[in-house]
Amino acid sequence: MSYHAGEYDVAVIGAGHAGCEAALACARLGFKTIIFAINLDTVANLPCNPNIGGTAKGHLVREIDALGGEMGKAADATFIQSRMLNLGKGPAVHSLRVQIDRRAYQAYMKKVLEHQENLDIKQAEITRIHAKDGKVRQVETNVGAVYDVKAAIVATGTFLRGRIIIGDVAYDGGPDGLFAATKLTQSLQELGIELMRFKTGTPARVNARSIDFSKFEQQKGDDEIVPFSFETESLGENKAVCYLSYTNEKTHEIIKKNLHRSPLYSGVIEGVGPRYCPSIEDKIVRFADKDRHQIFIEPMGLDTDEMYVQGMSTSLPEDVQLEMYRTIPGMENVHVMRTAYAIEYDCIQPTQLKQSLEFKAVENLYGAGQFNGSSGYEEAAAQGLIAGVNAVRKLQGKEPVILSRSQAYIGVLIDDLVTKGTSEPYRMMTARAEHRLLLRQDNADLRLTPLGYEIGLISKERYQRFLDMKEKIETEIKRLRKKVLPPSEKVNAFLDKYGSTRLKTGIHMDDLLKRPEMKYAALAEVDEEFPNLPQRIANQVEISIKYEGYIARQQLQAQQAEKLEKRHIPEDIDYFAIDGLRMEARQKLSQIRPSSVGQASRISGVSPADISVLLVYLKVRSP
Ligand SMILES: Cc1cc2nc3c(=O)[nH]c(=O)nc-3n(C[C@H](O)[C@H](O)[C@H](O)COP(=O)(O)OP(=O)(O)OC[C@H]3O[C@@H](n4cnc5c(N)ncnc54)[C@H](O)[C@@H]3O)c2cc1C
Repeated sequence: MSYHAGEYDVAVIGAGHAGCEAALACARLGFKTIIFAINLDTVANLPCNPNIGGTAKGHLVREIDALGGEMGKAADATFIQSRMLNLGKGPAVHSLRVQIDRRAYQAYMKKVLEHQENLDIKQAEITRIHAKDGKVRQVETNVGAVYDVKAAIVATGTFLRGRIIIGDVAYDGGPDGLFAATKLTQSLQELGIELMRFKTGTPARVNARSIDFSKFEQQKGDDEIVPFSFETESLGENKAVCYLSYTNEKTHEIIKKNLHRSPLYSGVIEGVGPRYCPSIEDKIVRFADKDRHQIFIEPMGLDTDEMYVQGMSTSLPEDVQLEMYRTIPGMENVHVMRTAYAIEYDCIQPTQLKQSLEFKAVENLYGAGQFNGSSGYEEAAAQGLIAGVNAVRKLQGKEPVILSRSQAYIGVLIDDLVTKGTSEPYRMMTARAEHRLLLRQDNADLRLTPLGYEIGLISKERYQRFLDMKEKIETEIKRLRKKVLPPSEKVNAFLDKYGSTRLKTGIHMDDLLKRPEMKYAALAEVDEEFPNLPQRIANQVEISIKYEGYIARQQLQAQQAEKLEKRHIPEDIDYFAIDGLRMEARQKLSQIRPSSVGQASRISGVSPADISVLLVYLKVRSP
């Protein structure tokens, strides 16, 4: 028997990384919001690796923070080890990655939700979404509570018709022993939404007491720790270490001997898994030439002995798992606390979404996170933030926020999903971003904080601090460009010290800094006016000057691309009426209905020749 349970502007279905960001954005923008989860003790759960960030994922976290999202702050508050990856490479791929205390992260995010005005949190399973005249109207729970809503965001992660698979055993379930969401799929299908089956997997959790760590190589955190959030002043110290080891011949033998019992190879698993997070059995088969694979033993938190076996996710039978893990030196007597498993779940083909993440088929219904075909906490949180902002802007009658590919990794992520679709869980990588030198993690606030302020998620005080910081960067860059360092014995002695060419005539400080062997901090030795700037500003000055040429070239490319992004396509266009367009292009364009020529050019099956035909047609139609 259903009953009327209340009215909200926005309902967010799911309190994972996507749902949390979506709900906070809606509530912080003043809209009455309710967020649902199947179990409130797993708000912002980390059902897989206990870390946030990493290559390209760290960029997403910084962008979420720059726009006014929460993940960066949550990671800074609950990290137990921090490392900046790829420091040996250029700044475009420098990426922060932190080990997280899983329980502390959940508690932090739940408290933020609980304290947030305009936001109610509810433990309930949403089983139906009701729409009328093609618009969302209500959501209904498994106990018959019906909520009137103006908009709804689906962020159900890996729960929709979740199915746990371990060897030849399979049963309905969500991650970490939670219930699956078994009914919402049908309701979505009745709304005309198509779903597909994806799969992902996770390794075992083992007890630290049963491991001999003397047989592992310790991996410590960085001495100098930098925060994710641009708002975080000071950070604590590293509180934990990780342990490095490798699989070996015996490990590979056991896996090969039991491949026939692997649900991946026996056909029990139907869902498509992530190519870039392969299971160990997949690695053995795909990289048969490799005689060992790297693994890391990572702490799940400070108040637990549970350890995560990074690099050995599997869905092999439990007995095989134990045999396999016990081949690792130091894990001969390991005790498995949580068995590794694969999970299959329903998600959508994201080409059913507009660039705002609103469904084309149902007005005011949005999708975010793993439900949209992506994989990863950071990818989920980024989509949640944008879906939340856009659900509110739609109710305000404002234009949606659509980040371009030259503005943000979030722009690349969403554009790839809704324009190209995906045939496996989509994971963000730096290689996906054609303008990655512009999209560095260190300048995310310079790219996005003004927009965050305009949206209303960045406070006036924070924005003023940002403007002050920006001004300091620009002032220092201007100063270095203007200042000439005359040749002198002292200067040439300084240059000798750094193995740099001696001066015969004066040199502009910025040109000196462009010398590969020169560091910004070193200039203090020959520059009496050298300001004592915070490290964050010093980094910006150094990168902006050292990579000036490359950045300028990429900005030019981005401007070129932007031109096509600004060439909008009318919503009512009939591609079948355009002479000269190939049939495949007509079909693909009609299915995706891109909003700009730029987006049209990225649809697979639409050729440059088709784009030329389209441009001519648009010119004639609206000169
Ligand atoms: C086994 C496993 C392995 C993974 N491996 C990887 C990996 O290797 N690499 C990687 O990048 N990512 C991996 N992930 C993915 C990662 O967990 C997710 O990407 C991330 O958590 C997605 O965030 P989300 O917010 O979309 O969904 P989730 O974090 O899954 O949250 C979904 C939320 O929705 C709620 N919910 C679902 N249905 C309903 C309903 N009908 N009514 C009410 N509430 C509902 C749940 O209670 C939960 O709060 C893995 C996940 C799992 C489970």
